Amino acid sequence: MTITIIEDWCKGCELCINRCPTSSLEKSKDLNKKGVYPPRLKEENECNFCRLCELICPDFAITVTQEAGEERVQKQKLILGGVAR
Ligand code: SF4
Ligand code: SF4
Repeated sequence: MTITIIEDWCKGCELCINRCPTSSLEKSKDLNKKGVYPPRLKEENECNFCRLCELICPDFAITVTQEAGEERVQKQKLILGGVAR
């Protein structure tokens, strides 16, 4: 999974930072074209790729992308998790 942030689309509302369930996002150090600090992934983060940041961003500035082959692995994990319980 990859998180892509289009920095110049961000208006700095910080919704993504405040709502990330794993506190994986922080303000970057550089201003964007709108004069605000867009989010970035913390260097050490526990992002679980829940996609909440992508869904919550009012300006569509964040995209969480799944690489080819990852979906199958994720589904296998879910199935195995179900069996283990
Ligand atoms: S939710 Fe979107 S607009 Fe708001 S800070 Fe995050 S990236 Fe920027
Ligand atoms: S995908 Fe989920 S865990 Fe990862 S940065 Fe976005 S909101 Fe946080």
